[in-house]
Amino acid sequence: MGAKPATAWTSRLRGVFDAVCPALCEVCGRWPDGPLCPDCWHDLAPLTVRCPGCALPHSHTQPYCAACQQDPPPWRTVVARVDFAHPWDAWIRALKSTARPGLSGALARLWLDDPAVPALLAGADVWLPIPLAADRLAARGYNQAWALMQALARLRVTPPALPQGLQRAPGAPVLHHLDRRERLTRAPGLFHVAPAARSQVRGRRVLVIDDVMTTGATLRAAAYALLDAGATAVDALVVARTPPPVE
Ligand SMILES: [Zn+2]
Ligand SMILES: [Zn+2]
Repeated sequence: MGAKPATAWTSRLRGVFDAVCPALCEVCGRWPDGPLCPDCWHDLAPLTVRCPGCALPHSHTQPYCAACQQDPPPWRTVVARVDFAHPWDAWIRALKSTARPGLSGALARLWLDDPAVPALLAGADVWLPIPLAADRLAARGYNQAWALMQALARLRVTPPALPQGLQRAPGAPVLHHLDRRERLTRAPGLFHVAPAARSQVRGRRVLVIDDVMTTGATLRAAAYALLDAGATAVDALVVARTPPPVE
C-alpha cells in the first residue's frame, strides 16, 4: 500500500524531529516523553514471572520449570526483562546498528524497573559482557552488551566490570547464523577467560550481560568458561528472551 501524502509528510516530519530531538518515544512517536513514553512502557514491558533457569514465562520464580529441572543450566539465575518481540526486537537491532545512548539508557531503566535486577547486581562480585566476534567488533566498532552495561552503571552503583574478561576462542563459530540444534552442539568451547582476568574471576560470583538470549547456548558457553576458571557462581542478565517456537 502506497503512503498517502499526509503519511509521507508525517514520516518526513518524524525524520526531522528524530534528527533534532532525540526525546521522541521510539514506539508511538509521541513527544517529548523520551525514548519510551510511560504508556508504551506500561503496555509493552509488563513485569512477567519467568523461570530462573531459562527466562521463559513460568508460573512462579522457584523452582525451575520442568525442562530446566531435567537439564539444569550452569547459572543460578538468568533474568530477562522482555520477550524478544515487538517493539524490543527492533530496539535491539537498532542498538546493534548504532550506539545510540538513548536506546541503551532506556533499556537500562527497563532493567531496573524489575526488582530481580538490583538483586542480581547485589549478588555479583564482578560483571562482564558477552564479547562479540573480532570481525563483528571491527565492523560495528562497539559491543552492544558493553553499551548496555555502561548505561546500567550510569544509573546505579554496580560491581567492578571486566570488559575484556571473556574472550572468544580462536575460530569459534558465530552462533547467530546457526539453528537451535547447531547452536547447542557448537557452543561448548566458545569462550575462555582472559589470562589477565583469571585472578578476578576465581572465587567470585560473576554476572554475565547480553542483549538477547535465544537458545541460551552462548550464555551456557560463557558460564562454563567462568566456572572452569574458578568462579563460584554465575548469573546472567539479558534484555530480551526469544519466545519458544509456536508448535
Ligand atoms: Zn510511546
Ligand atoms: Zn526453565
